[in-house]
Amino acid sequence: MDNESRFLCEAIVLAHTNSQNGGRPFGALVVKDGEVVASGVNEILNTNDPTAHAEMTAIRLASQKLKSANLQGCTVYASGHPCPMCMAAAAGRRKRSCLCLLQR
Ligand SMILES: [Zn+2]
Repeated sequence: MDNESRFLCEAIVLAHTNSQNGGRPFGALVVKDGEVVASGVNEILNTNDPTAHAEMTAIRLASQKLKSANLQGCTVYASGHPCPMCMAAAAGRRKRSCLCLLQR
């Protein structure tokens, strides 16, 4: 299995696990240089934060870990098609992250 497939599978497993734990079925990873920098799941229900989508959660954590809002060179792997908010966050100005997606 190549890295893209492996990371997409990891995002799907996160989504499935989150669903089994009562959350919404969405997971995401931020990867840089072939390594997972951060992962996230949809946390809307347990945080009451309407922006706590899996992609946003992973991007926030990756930015904290990398100590930079610039995620140049990172790739976001998502278990579903990102909404416009997440797409904008992943592809924002000065970032070169790209998305590998699975359609719902
Ligand atoms: Zn979103």
